[in-house]
Amino acid sequence: MGVPYFGAPFFVWPITTATVEDTPLANLQIAIVQVTAFQQNCTLMWDEDTKEGVVVDPGGDIDQIQAAILETGMKVTAIWLTHGHIDHAAGAMDLKEALDVEIIGPHKDDVPLLSGLEEQARMFGLEGAVRNCEPDRWLNEGETVSFAGHEFAVFHCPGHAPGHVVFYNQATKFAHVGDVLFAGSIGRTDLPGGNHDALIQSIKTKLMKWPDDIQFICGHGPASSIGKERASNPFLT
Ligand SMILES: [Zn+2]
Ligand SMILES: [Zn+2]
Repeated sequence: MGVPYFGAPFFVWPITTATVEDTPLANLQIAIVQVTAFQQNCTLMWDEDTKEGVVVDPGGDIDQIQAAILETGMKVTAIWLTHGHIDHAAGAMDLKEALDVEIIGPHKDDVPLLSGLEEQARMFGLEGAVRNCEPDRWLNEGETVSFAGHEFAVFHCPGHAPGHVVFYNQATKFAHVGDVLFAGSIGRTDLPGGNHDALIQSIKTKLMKWPDDIQFICGHGPASSIGKERASNPFLT
């Protein structure tokens, strides 16, 4: 369903495949709030029954994110970060304080980015509410994060950012891959800490090991699936 919100696209994207409906974890709900001048997909994920959930990558425009949280009726239990770029992490401290929740992730290799968010803002010529970020918990490859029984495996995928992590929920065949992989593209590697070879390696040795029917949301632009990208992404062929 499409719900216009303060002029920004805001939509709920339930996972509704037959396979998912057959599992006890079918009630994972997802909504995207596009935030910042970079049109970043701040993602709300919550459980339909308990309403507990997380906010992934609150990069800014906190008022819009909070309005979306209210509209969904979700109860935020944590903020998850995929990586330390300004469009993903700059609103995290404000939202953490407003909601009184912990910031979880990314991998600690993004310390320089997260402690340099105010510097990133100057570099991009941005003004306004940008604050350096100190997560409460770092994430490592092989760990699991969860809310309301929905478990996400953590994969450390450097290349776009050194400490980039992605979240993979096998039960609902869904992943959040941040800026690692996009529909028809991959993350840029010309920013500080970027490394093209490392990014390709992360995608090929981790994301491309997942089955074709894994749907994913990324940090910008439309959702896609592993199968689609395996078949047609020009950066992976
Ligand atoms: Zn990024
Ligand atoms: Zn981004």
